[in-house]
Amino acid sequence: MTTNATRPTDATRVLVLNSGSSSVKYQLLDMHDGARLAVGLVERIGEETSRLVHTPLRDGGSRERTAPMADHEAALKAVADELAADGLGLDSPELAAIGHRVVHGGLKFSAPTVITDEVMAEIERLVPVAPLHNPANITGIRTAQALRPDLPQVAVFDTAFHTTMPEYAARYAIDVETADAHRIRRYGFHGTSHAYVSRRVAGLLGKDPAEVNVIVLHLGNGASASAVAGGRCVDTSMGLTPLEGLVMGTRSGDIDPAVVFHLERVAGMSTDEIDVLLNKKSGLVGLCGDNDMREIQRRIDGGDERARLAFDVYIHRLKKYIGAYYAVLGRVDAVAFTAGVGENAAPVREAAITGLEELGLAVDADLNAVRSGEPRLISPEYARVAVAVVPTDEELEIAQQTYSLVTFPVDQ
Ligand code: AMP
Repeated sequence: MTTNATRPTDATRVLVLNSGSSSVKYQLLDMHDGARLAVGLVERIGEETSRLVHTPLRDGGSRERTAPMADHEAALKAVADELAADGLGLDSPELAAIGHRVVHGGLKFSAPTVITDEVMAEIERLVPVAPLHNPANITGIRTAQALRPDLPQVAVFDTAFHTTMPEYAARYAIDVETADAHRIRRYGFHGTSHAYVSRRVAGLLGKDPAEVNVIVLHLGNGASASAVAGGRCVDTSMGLTPLEGLVMGTRSGDIDPAVVFHLERVAGMSTDEIDVLLNKKSGLVGLCGDNDMREIQRRIDGGDERARLAFDVYIHRLKKYIGAYYAVLGRVDAVAFTAGVGENAAPVREAAITGLEELGLAVDADLNAVRSGEPRLISPEYARVAVAVVPTDEELEIAQQTYSLVTFPVDQ
């Protein structure tokens, strides 16, 4: 289906869909004022125990249904029913577009893109480099297209913000022909979050994004750092896949690639087993059995040595990236913490910045202890470099990018 869908006039709502292999997260936003009208999640799609949790935000009160949903189509139909029950149905003339989070856009997609047959074909061509994510995103898009074939559907790519990385940052130092034949290079992920947070930090400093250099630390269950110079990403810690870089909840981040050969040759593990080990059983969970920073902090408070070691490995890697990106940027105006750990774990922020005073970095203990959902500075006034906490909002960013594209279309 080649879409020639157009945005209905006066339509200001955008449905944001984030489709995983067995889950769909969604938010309906009104771009008139950025208000959320409903948020929800379907999980365990394809199982007997599929569960939908839907929260209409104007009326409050979550509703939950547990019923088998065989596939994404069944899940999205259930979501459409819930929205319709609140007078927010997908058939509403107020719906302007559906914005899809798409994990891998390769090199081709450096901006949000209206989905056509050609765009779908390219997203499919990228499946070999994003085997876990792109197929689920494709299923989500197809299902949404079937529900509203007349509506513009927009892909917002996790990799797009990183396409400005210079070639020397994106290249692995391996044989060029082999790399190019298999599209092996550093793409980076969490781009929507890095874009949003780096822009918000500039606002917090009262400056234009083009004027500021920022190190963004997106520390969730997945974690990545980026160096952003004047609003453009110049380096990021994730690579061909989201496995590279920082220590994460269940992913190892950087390791010597020879560990893989060693596990194969000496430990007799298969490629799939090593994949599971490094993606699902490593990082914090591999080091201490827990991937939730709250639990790790509780264990450290109780004197647990393994939890302490996991925390120290996590912080050591984080510091190395802060130092590296400081050197890459040359001048840093701000370091920004975001996502579940970055927004909530004051001890992580403190430990990551402690010792970097010579770089102009410091954290004020009282400001760091404040709990708030608002973007804020946690560095003392005297510090040369601002340290900020900026709650990320990937759904708002996806909705804004989607809405801008369908309201002010650009030639693609
Ligand atoms: P995300 O992937 O951004 O949703 O982040 C999820 C992670 O954030 C969890 O696995 C926890 O490690 C961490 N997290 C969430 N809330 C807190 C908190 N209050 N304190 C410390 N860590 C937290």
